[in-house]
Amino acid sequence: MSDDTLLDRALIRLEEAASHLNIDQDVIEKLKYPRETTKSRLLIRMDDGSRKSFQAWRCRYDDTRGPTKGGIRFHPDSTVEEVETLAFWMTFKCAVMNLPYGGGKGAVRVDPHKLSRTELERLSRAYVQAFANTIGPDRDIPAPDVYTNAMIMGWMADEYGQITGAVTPAVITGKPIALGGSLGRNDATARGGFYLVRHLAKELGLDRGHSVAIQGFGNAGQFYAQLSAQDGNKVVAVSDSAGAIHRADGLDVEKLIAGKNAGKRVAELAEALGAKIISPEELRALEVDLLVPAALEDMITVDNAGSIKARVLLELANGPVMPAADKILEGKKIIVLPDILANAGGVTVSYFEWVQNRQGYYWDLEEIHERLLKIVEREGRAIWEIGVSRQVSMRSAAYIHALGRLATAIEAHGTQSFFAG
Ligand code: NAD
Repeated sequence: MSDDTLLDRALIRLEEAASHLNIDQDVIEKLKYPRETTKSRLLIRMDDGSRKSFQAWRCRYDDTRGPTKGGIRFHPDSTVEEVETLAFWMTFKCAVMNLPYGGGKGAVRVDPHKLSRTELERLSRAYVQAFANTIGPDRDIPAPDVYTNAMIMGWMADEYGQITGAVTPAVITGKPIALGGSLGRNDATARGGFYLVRHLAKELGLDRGHSVAIQGFGNAGQFYAQLSAQDGNKVVAVSDSAGAIHRADGLDVEKLIAGKNAGKRVAELAEALGAKIISPEELRALEVDLLVPAALEDMITVDNAGSIKARVLLELANGPVMPAADKILEGKKIIVLPDILANAGGVTVSYFEWVQNRQGYYWDLEEIHERLLKIVEREGRAIWEIGVSRQVSMRSAAYIHALGRLATAIEAHGTQSFFAG
């Protein structure tokens, strides 16, 4: 298989997992390609009366285990290939957590910061109009992703209700609480990662008080810093797209978050926090117990993986380590808790939102946390044990775990279900 495209590179992990399992080649053939990708051009009216059109996609990668699930991204660099790769990852992420979903994803190629609020609302509604026959509570369930949020999900749920003539909150997750959103969704991604690290702390050799460096101080990174610091650990370094700071005795996380909320960059907060400004490369190479990539994909490459000195890596970001860098980290005995497990707390609480919408009965925050904890510990433990018994990395173990479930489901559908003749 070539390593030319993003999807090809993602598929390397599928092939690697398959090599550990006695899996029918038909299963691999089915999982190598998206089931269906729909393309549309969204034409909207701008505030000045002119018309503008935007390319949009929705991919349902695989629905063997249930309706497809995955976010909608609004980004100027979105491509169909990126959408399909993200949908592939969602297929495996949902299988890792044993959620009754397949994987999907959507995007609009747009810079939403250049739109007014009313233009953004028209675009969001146009997306639902274009894909109304693709999405549905039993078919394909979107959620927020990069540059989309609860407000946009609210508009989209409303538009779907207007088109179908029925109030259907379960068609989309990540909604505002007032429209059927779930408690606990805001910090779910970080919380899932935090529960995982805490549960496997002994195996990972992470004592209470361990040091943490966080690359990317947005939604996932900030909540992780907060949960980890509250548990008695030392967040010694953080970065955002404009710079990084370090304080060996630990940063005051609450002050840092307050500063970010006030619109400051982390480097602008260094002096007030008694921290030193460092380069992003220095942050990546710090001698810490835990490094948390929580920014973008492809941040750890063959060229820089050798400099990492952390003992454990928690991938809160999607795809932060390029496949070619995996072997370097393995060679250095760095344990990587992979994205499809480490950041799956987000989609798990999205699943809870869908369940609550369907049953029309809502859980309190304590119940959400308890249910999330149970799933993270169950799947995290199972993957750890696969890693130990098969002598493979946690990433391979997670893919093996998910692929086993996908293969069982594909076979249970029957051979005539997917393949003609
Ligand atoms: P966000 O936009 O809130 O935060 C991203 C942060 O990364 C920002 O602080 C930004 O300044 C920083 N950043 C960007 N480029 C950087 C660089 N080169 N170096 C250092 N920092 C940089 O996004 P988020 O929701 O926190 O998502 C972060 C990652 O987590 C993404 O990969 C996303 O796909 C993944 N993720 C998020 C969720 C979720 O629920 N938020 C769920 C699953 C996965």
